[in-house]
Amino acid sequence: MKIKKLMTALLATFLVMHGGLQGQVSKKENPQMEKRIQKLISKMTLKEKTGLLHGNSKFFVSGVSRLGIPEWSLSDGPHGVRAEINRHDWGYSNWTTDSATYFPTGTAFAAAWNPELARRRGEVLGEEARFRKKDVLLGPGVNIIRSPLGGRNFEYMSEDPYLNARLAVPYIQGLQSRDVAASVKHYLANNQETNRTTVDVLMSERALREIYLPAFKAAVEEGGSYTIMNAYNKFRGDWCSENTYINRTLLRDEMGFKGVTMTDWGGAHSTVKAALAGLDLEMGTMVDDYNQWFFADPLIEAVKSGAVPESIVDEKVANVLRVMIQTNVLDPKKRFNKASMNTPEHQQAAYQSAVESIVLLKNENNLLPLDVNKINSIAVLGDNATRLHANGGLSSEIKALYEITPLQGIQNKLGDRIKINYAQGYEKLSTFVEGSNNGQNPGNFKGGGELDKAVLKEAVETARKSDIAIIYAGLNHDYDTESSDKQGYALPYGQVQLIQEVCKVNPRTIVVIIAGSPVDMAAIDICAPAVVWGWFNGMEAGNAITDVLTGKETPTGKMPFSVPVSLDQSPAHAYNNFPGQDLVVRYDEDILVGYRWFDTKKLPVVYPFGYGLSYTSFEFGQMNTDKTEYTVNDSIEVSFTLKNTGIRKGAEVAQLYVSDPVCSVMRPTKELKAFEKVFLNPGETRDVILKVPVGSFAFWSEAENKFVVEPGEFILSLATSAQDIKQTLRIQVK
Ligand code: BGC
Repeated sequence: MKIKKLMTALLATFLVMHGGLQGQVSKKENPQMEKRIQKLISKMTLKEKTGLLHGNSKFFVSGVSRLGIPEWSLSDGPHGVRAEINRHDWGYSNWTTDSATYFPTGTAFAAAWNPELARRRGEVLGEEARFRKKDVLLGPGVNIIRSPLGGRNFEYMSEDPYLNARLAVPYIQGLQSRDVAASVKHYLANNQETNRTTVDVLMSERALREIYLPAFKAAVEEGGSYTIMNAYNKFRGDWCSENTYINRTLLRDEMGFKGVTMTDWGGAHSTVKAALAGLDLEMGTMVDDYNQWFFADPLIEAVKSGAVPESIVDEKVANVLRVMIQTNVLDPKKRFNKASMNTPEHQQAAYQSAVESIVLLKNENNLLPLDVNKINSIAVLGDNATRLHANGGLSSEIKALYEITPLQGIQNKLGDRIKINYAQGYEKLSTFVEGSNNGQNPGNFKGGGELDKAVLKEAVETARKSDIAIIYAGLNHDYDTESSDKQGYALPYGQVQLIQEVCKVNPRTIVVIIAGSPVDMAAIDICAPAVVWGWFNGMEAGNAITDVLTGKETPTGKMPFSVPVSLDQSPAHAYNNFPGQDLVVRYDEDILVGYRWFDTKKLPVVYPFGYGLSYTSFEFGQMNTDKTEYTVNDSIEVSFTLKNTGIRKGAEVAQLYVSDPVCSVMRPTKELKAFEKVFLNPGETRDVILKVPVGSFAFWSEAENKFVVEPGEFILSLATSAQDIKQTLRIQVK
């Protein structure tokens, strides 16, 4: 095995392309389409061309009506189609037809570990976007959760590039199947909100290639995302919107992207530099006269002066027209015509996503599911029992058609049989100043905090006199929000004290965490007999959580991030490089993000990545591979049986991690390379086959500037979380 190190001369190189080349929508050459594009461009004036390259209002881009090119309409966002915003200011238009289906937010949706739900979500978003006559829906957000404090964690998905990629691809395909362009965001490295428009992100090429780029790459190469949104921050010295390396070298040259790159709103900083670096579309610049925007008259001037060749402008116009043709904007008769809004099917999709996202973290003495026939009273406690979340978090906020709160859910479903005793338990302190969204930090409260004595007393008394106590705790969008990071890891508003006091008087206490980011769970996990992660879970949140708590549904969710014991043990903070110094943030933890860090450094966590319990039990049969020796171009077939050995229907997420025990460079202890969510009836057994390309075992060689698989032994671990390994197998790569 040591030979492996000596074999560097024989390194097998391999471009990692998980999933092969299928679905490279944006890459496909279509000569007829290109001819049509060139013909249109040849008829345009320079003014008409630049009109297609910048906003003419908050969310629209001018067309060229004499050539049959309509105005282009864009909208947020990842969890639903955002309510209509005024053309020329940020106020809402107060339409009566723009209430939408509100899906679980990013981390919630990722916790379902279900690519089929991702596809369905995309389809529903596409149908509703078309109902609202939108052409581009801004999302999904696929940035990596680097720190628990990241303000936008809740909008993103997970700490793992593979999981993000596997969910982003079907989401985009589903959305675009409805002739609505996705805009995968925020490219690149928007992993914090502090100084988000000025901070310079520095990371190794390896961290970029292995951690921060793969989900974008999959979104483009496999998902065929028609557009991509540049992040606000700088990357290696240049703002993303004028960064040649990320927008030309990586995106166009390497990934073959043929779609539109756009700024985040207000993310443009220059005309010539951005134009040459590959930016196509400028949005949200805070200058009232649209003609003064970087890509308006200044771009015309730049062409006239020779600073920007007109061919560069034509390239951008071609990119916009290409996306318009691919989504049938220019051929309305061919366009997806089953636009719909708020249908029962859409609401069912939101419900299913909510149910599958819920994670059971602790369940002492099988306290859950609740046997509703043996319960006379339930105390429902906590501010999150009644708080609405749709309308928070800034740009991803949704005007939900409705949002069922946990209290409503339990009242609707059990109120006729069981006495529901509600008490607020803790107060949401007003840290948020209305209208202060301009980069101010609304979540400036550090966590911890004192409880109001009377409020606490009422909650404790309510819990004491009830058979069961359920505390809906966690965060809200004062904390999990765009434009500011959290200032601390502790749960705010004195919630820990509330939970501890309630657990003392009622041994049947269940804590449900409503949050989109890791929060300090150490003390809660010690005192509460049952813990459930319930997320910002969309419009059906209250129904979903009630159905899971009462056993109508079995929890199947798995954590999409690790929950560290303390902030200083988590990677970015261990190096004291969050949110950076002097407007520079160095990712010194490098590739050791999330479980890669905790595993490799052998640090305990409260809840590991991939972890989640069920009301039923599962048994894995013997794991096998189709061969024992492979080449780098092979795919490994990992097979095993999975049996539901309990008495309820349920699902296990079988996770396959791969380790490279001897390597010329440091490798994380293990990395997720495949997973499948397997639904099983009681007693049912299924044969499961996971296909894992050997190429995906590669690491980015800084020496060779490419992905490399070193021959030798690899260990495959079949697991139910990053810490719960059921079986291992060794294979050889020649
Ligand atoms: C956000 C984007 C969003 C855009 C438009 C920006 O502040 O960063 O995610 O799509 O606004 O609302």
